[in-house]
Amino acid sequence: MVVYIFTAFTWWTILHLRNNETFFKNNVEIIKLRNPELTLGEIESSEAFVALTEKYAAKNRMIYGEAFVFITFMLFGTIWIYNRNKKEEAFNQQQQNFLHSVSHELKSPLSGIKLSLETLLVRELDKEKKTRILTNSMSEVNRLNILINNILLSARLGDTSLEVNQQCVDLSSLITSIIKRLEQQYPKRQIKFSPSDAIVHSDQWILESILINLIENALKYSPDDKPVEVEIEQGKNLFIHVIDHGYGLSDKDKKAVFRKFYRVGSEMTRTTKGTGLGLYIVSELVKTIKADLKVSNNKPQGSVFSLKL
Ligand code: ATP
Ligand code: MG
Repeated sequence: MVVYIFTAFTWWTILHLRNNETFFKNNVEIIKLRNPELTLGEIESSEAFVALTEKYAAKNRMIYGEAFVFITFMLFGTIWIYNRNKKEEAFNQQQQNFLHSVSHELKSPLSGIKLSLETLLVRELDKEKKTRILTNSMSEVNRLNILINNILLSARLGDTSLEVNQQCVDLSSLITSIIKRLEQQYPKRQIKFSPSDAIVHSDQWILESILINLIENALKYSPDDKPVEVEIEQGKNLFIHVIDHGYGLSDKDKKAVFRKFYRVGSEMTRTTKGTGLGLYIVSELVKTIKADLKVSNNKPQGSVFSLKL
């Protein structure tokens, strides 16, 4: 369609230019016929010829000008529509991936929990086996809890701004309780944290959601044998650093990971469960409590997410 419009318009321009030229030539002939006694040089310097030439040049300028304006608008319009379509396509694809991973992530822990409960109901098991089954189920419940919280939160973030309930929050006990929960979910992993006296005035539930997402990501995107560290730094400002020794993030991905549904295309991400909602929610929550979040590289490898309160 666009090619057709461009071709039709180019043809229309050429036609107008030709008509103008024919009109000019015919008028020159008329001047010659009306003044047979004049030589070519005399005709070319006559007033009528000069006026005709100016009219011809002005008409040509008008045709070129209109063609330029039209083609420029068409070009920008086409580029704009193309970019919008591309963005919409990418968004649809991301939503499709999201629905796919959410339905998978909701189903698989539920089937795990159902199977565990059925086993406990039907079979008489010794204490050790029972504890193992219950611990696994607890870890699945925790995973479901984080996922459902994230989905509900992202829906709420879309429509209205969240209500902030300011209160005194004991950061060390908050972080310790989050770590306890995540240790149940990731029993093989080591999370290092040295508690210190740090009280902030903020929304406990929002802080908890931010930190769970950051610490869970650090666990998910780093190898099992590497620890994750959480540090509180107190100076002029208070920082919470979540440090991992994973594969880190490229400069481009350091910005992109905060987009809704965005997941890095690496092997590490593909083999890890997730919906790409976590960091989008984190960035919105950080704005809500007027905090700041920076991502940097850990040395020799990994990422550091630093929350400034
Ligand atoms: P979920 O919604 O379950 O959190 P997710 O972890 O994939 O899913 P985000 O938390 O938004 O989604 O993270 C987006 C992407 O950023 C991840 O898929 C991963 O590729 C990358 N990422 C996040 N944290 C880290 C990290 N600490 N190290 C390396 N890559 C990370
Ligand atoms: Mg995540």
